This record gives sequence, structure tokens and C-alpha cells, in this order.
Amino acid sequence: MKYSQLFSKTLKQVPHDGESINAKLLVQAGFVRQEMAGVYSWLPLGLRVLRKIEQIVREEMDAVGGQELLMPMLHPKANWVQTGGWDSIDVLFKLNSRTGNEYALGQSEEEIVTPLVMSRVQSYKNLPVQVYQIHWKFRDELRAKSGVMRGREFLMKDMYSFHADEKDFLRFYKLVKEAYLNIYKRIGLTAKVTEASGGSFSKKISYEFMVLTDAGEDDILYCEKCDFCVNVEIAKVNVGDTCERCGRGELKQARASEVGNVFDLGQKYPKDFDLTFVDEKGKKHHPWMGCYGIGISRAVGVIVEASHDDRGMIWPASVAPMDVHLISLRAKDSKTQGEIDQAAQEIYDGLLNMGIEVLWDDRADATPGQKFADADLIGIPLRMVISEKTLKEKSVEWKERASEKAQLIKREDVLKKIRSV
Ligand code: ATP
Ligand code: MG
Repeated sequence: MKYSQLFSKTLKQVPHDGESINAKLLVQAGFVRQEMAGVYSWLPLGLRVLRKIEQIVREEMDAVGGQELLMPMLHPKANWVQTGGWDSIDVLFKLNSRTGNEYALGQSEEEIVTPLVMSRVQSYKNLPVQVYQIHWKFRDELRAKSGVMRGREFLMKDMYSFHADEKDFLRFYKLVKEAYLNIYKRIGLTAKVTEASGGSFSKKISYEFMVLTDAGEDDILYCEKCDFCVNVEIAKVNVGDTCERCGRGELKQARASEVGNVFDLGQKYPKDFDLTFVDEKGKKHHPWMGCYGIGISRAVGVIVEASHDDRGMIWPASVAPMDVHLISLRAKDSKTQGEIDQAAQEIYDGLLNMGIEVLWDDRADATPGQKFADADLIGIPLRMVISEKTLKEKSVEWKERASEKAQLIKREDVLKKIRSV
């Protein structure tokens, strides 16, 4: 992609909706546009990050046997009445139709997935089932001040599993917990796993996946020596206590953002809809259910909060909008300019041929200072510069966003070197 063609350029002015670091940087770099509090348009660079996280999540969910599907965002009122959510869930958006019918916008999908899956499950032989989707959710959040970390519309991966009994659910639950830890590692986040009380209907234990960041809205207590971690809201322990798990570490308190969770739903939803399967003896049972969420659009914001400096964002390679940010600088005369442009074109084509994604800042009217500042703001992990100076050395300047050091690499070695990183 040539920067001159890019539809969503960086903004000179920091927008006034930048109350959080992630919103400020994502908006200024042209990754998103805030349409109203908690609602964003995802522009080409931002969408690429979203899609990369999505793909990593998809691979890990497929690996534990999840099957992807897509359920509606517009839900019939009757399903929400049936589970009690219509009157009890305060974040539920309710819509009136001109026909007099009412609908809900999906804030979670148990109301749809339970009847859907059970329409295909008659016997224990049809279980377990685990399905997931990556789709937009709507919630009437009162405070939407954390940029893309708290949307009124946000992208979630939600998986639901159905089991013949609690034992089988517990087997699967552990697999998903491991898959989640893989996901966070792959997208460059360090997540701690809290043990927390379940959702409003479930008294079972559940896990929350927390990333330490001051931009988060949760407070956690964690052990500095082992993996013990709890949400302060429910904690029976205090800051400074000796860890009850390892007996060595001291408990510390920190701000964190919940990037995912897994819940034991028990039999609530199948009971609400009175949906059953038959066992070997022909006896009817309600299946056991689990649900597993990951805030994909929130993760974009959390990554920015965790990985930036005062010049801009620093994307982990796995989710960066592009692999390489190529910059061609202005020359004093048109002959040298022609040579710079040709050298940049060759590198650009060579990288594209290798399947490497390149943003080429080919602008004729931008100063070196503007180009470097934009590259730092956008935060692509690797920057390559071609200038009069590098031309003389038959080289490109190679610099990683996360490092202050730049080096000259011979042009003929660039493609070889990139293969090795
Ligand atoms: P929170 O306590 O942050 O409101 P939640 O417990 O309501 O989260 P779930 O209903 O379990 O969250 O949703 C699953 C995941 O979706 C959460 O772990 C979080 O990462 C993400 N998520 C929840 N609400 C929002 C939101 N308003 N904006 C963006 N992501 C969200
Ligand atoms: Mg919530």
C-alpha cells in the first residue's frame, strides 16, 4: 500500500476525544474514527490489526475443536423474555419496530445459541458441541471513556459449549483456558488469570484473563512469586498478605483490563428453554453449558496501552497493520530522485513478492520529519529508509520501531535479511 493512496492518513491535531491513550493514538494515526462515545469506524490500518487478532483467535479456537458460525445481531424479544434477560440486563439495547414488535441487540448470544444448538442435539451421541462466532456486540454502557477498550458496540469472540455432563464440561474448560493463554501470548500481551465468581446466574467459579494496565477498569491482587491472582471485587485477601498459594510471595494490587473470560453456565439456559437430550437409557437431561468470551476490539486498545512511547504506537509483529514501513526521502535533484524512487520501488516489489506487507510512504510533498513522525506514530515494527545518503552506500537504513538503533543494510541483502527475522 502506498501512503499517498491510503484513505485514512494521520491527523495533525490530536482529537479532543483522546481521553485515553489508546483512543488518542488510534484516532491520530488514522486507525479508527470516533463516531460517538463508545462507537468507532475501523479504518484500513485499524481494521488490519483487528483482522489479525481475529485470525489468531480463530486458529486457537479451531485447534480446540470450535466450529465457527455467525448468528444474528438482531434478536427476537421472546428469547430474552424466556431467560429473564429482557428485564434484568441493564446494558441490553431494546428496539421498537414500526410493526409494534420489539427486538434486542445482541449483548451476548446465549439466547440464540441455546435453541440453535439444541435444534441439532437429540441424544448424548450428538454431544459435545462447541461453536463460536466473531461478531459485534451492543451494550448500553454508561461510561464509555476508555477508547476502544469499552465500546457500546464492540467486537467479541464468543464461544459456547454444550456437554452431556459437568465432567465433560470441565475437561473442555481447561483446554480453552490454555488456548486463551496461547492467544494472549501470540498477540503480545501478558495475561494473568483470576479466579472470580461467575456471571449473574452462575454460582460456579470462572476465569478472567487480565492484562495489567492503568487504563483498565478492574483492580486485581496478584502474587509477585506465583500465578495467584484475584479480582479485588470478590477477594477475601488483602494487599500485603502472604500468598496463600505459594506461601512465599506478597500480594500486590494493580489496575487491569479484562481481555477475556470463561464461564461455567451450568444448565441455566437449557432449563430456561426446556431443551434436553436423551442418555443411553433414554432418560432426558439438560446439557451443561460453558461460554468463553474474548474482547477483540478491546484487545486492540490494550495492546496500544501496553506498547507505545511518547512518539506513538509500537505494534507486536503478529498483529501489526503491516510488516514494513518503507520511506523514500526527497532528493535535491531530479536525477537522484529518480534513483531513490526506483530503489524504493524495487524493494517494495521484492517485499510484496515475498508476501510481506509494506506501507510505502511515497509522498512527494512531505518532509523527512513528517515521514519519520508518522512512521513512529503508526508503529509498524520495521522501518526502512531510502535517501540520498543510503543511495550512495547502495543500502537502506533499517530500524526497528522498538529500538533506537538504525543500521545500513546493503540493498541486495535486504530480502535475505528479512527472511531471517
Ligand atoms: P467488563 O467487566 O469489562 O464490562 P464483562 O464481564 O461485561 O466485561 P463479558 O460479558 O464476559 O464481559 O464479555 C466478554 C469479553 O468482552 C470481556 O472479557 C471483554 O474483553 C469484552 N468486553 C466486554 N464489554 C466490553 C465493552 N463494552 N467494550 C469492549 N469490550 C468489551
Ligand atoms: Mg460489562
